[in-house]
Amino acid sequence: MPTAALYIHIPFCEKRCVYCDFYTVAGVESRLPDYIKALKKEMALRAAETFWQRQRFATIFFGGGTPSLLAPPEIAEILDTAFASFHFAAHPEITLEANPGTITSAQLARYRAAGINRLSLGIQSLHVDELERLDRIHSPQQAIDAVVMARHAGFENINMDFIFALPQQTLGRWQDNLAQAVELRPTHISAYNLTIEPGTPLEVKIRKGEIQPLSEEEERAFFQFTIDFLERHGWQQYEVSNFAKPGYEARHNIKYWDGSAYLGLGASAHSYDGKRRFWNVANLRKYLAALAADRCPEDNAEPLTKQQKIFETAFLGLRQRRGVDLAAFAKQFRRSFDETFKGVVQELEKGGLLVRRDHYLQLTREGLMLCDEVCTRLGTQLEIAPKLNFKNNNSPDDEAEGNDGEQHGPQGQ
Ligand code: SF4
Repeated sequence: MPTAALYIHIPFCEKRCVYCDFYTVAGVESRLPDYIKALKKEMALRAAETFWQRQRFATIFFGGGTPSLLAPPEIAEILDTAFASFHFAAHPEITLEANPGTITSAQLARYRAAGINRLSLGIQSLHVDELERLDRIHSPQQAIDAVVMARHAGFENINMDFIFALPQQTLGRWQDNLAQAVELRPTHISAYNLTIEPGTPLEVKIRKGEIQPLSEEEERAFFQFTIDFLERHGWQQYEVSNFAKPGYEARHNIKYWDGSAYLGLGASAHSYDGKRRFWNVANLRKYLAALAADRCPEDNAEPLTKQQKIFETAFLGLRQRRGVDLAAFAKQFRRSFDETFKGVVQELEKGGLLVRRDHYLQLTREGLMLCDEVCTRLGTQLEIAPKLNFKNNNSPDDEAEGNDGEQHGPQGQ
């Protein structure tokens, strides 16, 4: 029986980072107790729905925002309610995104005791000037200490989130970030190419000409180096932006990429039930008011057409290094991948961007560099406007720091 993923969005941050477009609020931590109460009520409402009652959840992901602003007993309280409300598979992966500027050694040990078994640290850079330019609240030393403290607290599964191709960043300085990361021996590294999101302070500065983004050629050089360097040191690239030691791939993220159902709780969280994607109000006041009145905080929904599902299966499959499972695709859509995308696949193969291995179709190294372009061509063939960055909670390019990219995936936390 397929399993599902549970995402819990904690939208509170001490301060907004210049590049971030996640739904977060700063300076209102006094609302946290009300928020936890609302989350518990939302769980009760969703648990009463037959679809979610029938699911077996295999992962829980606390993303943000900054979930590490919650005290360990608050995390334990939310987890207790989740376990009492839904059915779970054995040994679920339970991730907490943490900001190195908000954690102590004792706090980490108590998160571990509360049941968190994977820690995703929003590191972003290990250079003080880069962290300052991003408006991060932590120092390089706090980032390093966070990894060391997490290990001492009993976390075996630790992710470090990084962003590369920052304005003014040289390849040498990015190489230095990665070299330090490798020394710290996390089990997982997420490395996101900086996305300049419309309306963020970073985008405004770039628009005004106050800072210059790196060129596409420079970005590719950073990405190439990242893949070569991390693979050489034993972190396998299993998705465009994600690298893991064998056996430590993020099970939660994989759920987003393989088309599993996921339930997102909290302000702005997104969900998918196999037929439609729906999302909560991205407004703390409205979220709290809805649940205070025992109303579901859902804001809107988008039913997925067959064409959209086909495109997402192709796009999310190609982002994974193993590629699209052609046999599973043909079984699910009753048409082969080649037939569905007519001549485009052959053209992309001839152009050296796609390759077949067994019954998988994968991006080549060159294709990886041009992933969005390849996916756009596939979408165009389906005559749909391809959406390469639909939200699935922490999905980079999907979102990322989402931390751990994960529905928020990437550039958050
Ligand atoms: S990047 Fe992370 S810490 Fe910064 S504002 Fe966004 S969610 Fe908060």
